Amino acid sequence: MDLMSLTALELGRKIKEGETTAVEAVEAAFAQIGKVDQTLNCYVTTDKDAALKDAEKIQKKIEAGELTGPLAGVPVAIKDNLCTEGMNTTCSSRILHNFKPTYTAEAVLNLKKAGAVILGKTNMDEFAMGSTTETSFYGPTKNPWNTEHVPGGSSGGSCAAVAAEECSYALGSDTGGSIRQPSSFCGVTGMKPTYGTVSRYGLIAYGSSLDQIGPVAKDVSDCAAILEAIASYDPKDSTSIRRKSYDFTSALTEDVKGLRIGIPRDYFGEGLNPEVKEHILEAAKTLEEKGAVLEEFDLSLVEYAIPAYYIIASAEASSNLARFDGVKYGYRAEQYEGLHNMYKKSRSEGFGPEVKRRIMLGSFVLSSGYYDAYYIKALKAKALIKQAFDRAFSKYDLILAPAAPTTAPRCGESLSDPIQMYLGDIYTVSVNLAGLPGMTVPCGRDKKGLPIGMQLISDCFQEHKIIRAAYTFEKTRTYERCPLVQTPDQKGAIKE
Ligand code: GLN
Repeated sequence: MDLMSLTALELGRKIKEGETTAVEAVEAAFAQIGKVDQTLNCYVTTDKDAALKDAEKIQKKIEAGELTGPLAGVPVAIKDNLCTEGMNTTCSSRILHNFKPTYTAEAVLNLKKAGAVILGKTNMDEFAMGSTTETSFYGPTKNPWNTEHVPGGSSGGSCAAVAAEECSYALGSDTGGSIRQPSSFCGVTGMKPTYGTVSRYGLIAYGSSLDQIGPVAKDVSDCAAILEAIASYDPKDSTSIRRKSYDFTSALTEDVKGLRIGIPRDYFGEGLNPEVKEHILEAAKTLEEKGAVLEEFDLSLVEYAIPAYYIIASAEASSNLARFDGVKYGYRAEQYEGLHNMYKKSRSEGFGPEVKRRIMLGSFVLSSGYYDAYYIKALKAKALIKQAFDRAFSKYDLILAPAAPTTAPRCGESLSDPIQMYLGDIYTVSVNLAGLPGMTVPCGRDKKGLPIGMQLISDCFQEHKIIRAAYTFEKTRTYERCPLVQTPDQKGAIKE
């Protein structure tokens, strides 16, 4: 039995029924990691001994009937910006290369309570800033569908690890699309919940008003079950929201009859790759055939999303990253003269170019004299964008859109032109600005064989509608495994 080809829920069921064990699942995951991770670089840290020990303990609890949840014993990969006690948490940076947190992020704790076994930490763009997982201090992650292309970012390690079956599922974080865009590029399913649904306690902050943790998995059922496990009200996170219900799996029904889906015309114009467009519109048609009611509409203000997002996210990042000064933790320059020089050299040597660019941009837009012109204006744009979504959701249950304007770019193509890379976030950032939930579901592949993802967006707290539609759509297709996992060795990765 190929344990790693199973979905998280399928594997959980087999463990529960005694067909396999948590220990065997961890062994299978590490066998696959051994086989492909040298090529893909999905993980920054793995700890096989700790995982096996955890698996043994969890297996005993499962057998004793103490752990009965659907994810008990199933191995998971965690994005490296989520704190894990005693295990390196680097944010794929040099400055945190040796940071071992003294506590575990609430979302990860919730997973542990559900019986998850942690395999290790996944690669990402440094401090989650980027769209390709190429800004990592530990080298880029490769797309398992074609290793000459990027996996997307910043949760590229998590999404590639799921696609390459190096874990059963993963956690990512999404500040401006970092779960949804790499899910699209890697042909997996990923979800950003409503802001405040999953505790950010222990998530190393990038843009605190935008950051949200979410699941990455092979299918919609897994995502719903994982979200159910990680979502909770947490007084340790002042933006955590006590929701009426944390039940997401009961929305897994094949029924979209009468569901009103809006298609924003402004998302389908210039800049959208025609092949991506074709597949997204075909997916929309499938939902229509299943009983959903489709309508095109003008969302408006789309051109303000990228500038507003990059101003707000960078402003918050410049403040959040001020704590990395070489004193409290992380990298410190070896030679310096005096305190200020120590700060300066530690930060100059410890941060990579993309992070420095954001810190400079953020400090600039927050500086007196420019604050009103940039930061306040961006906040106003954010409020108007939220209003545009409010108007849309007074008419529609869901918005259907692409997750990204293209399929995965070739390695090295994006970093040379940061503005072009920022523009690629056009369909994802406004969801974060408005605090909405969004999900990416695979809906086809381009002529090169690279995956395309459809994005479903709902109003706040309406994840069940997304799950319903995504599940209904998914049932019309079969899950496509990437060529890398279908052949006995990594040579199976397609080359152009
Ligand atoms: N690509 C976006 C950025 O660089 C989004 C990143 C994210 O969601 N963490 O900011």
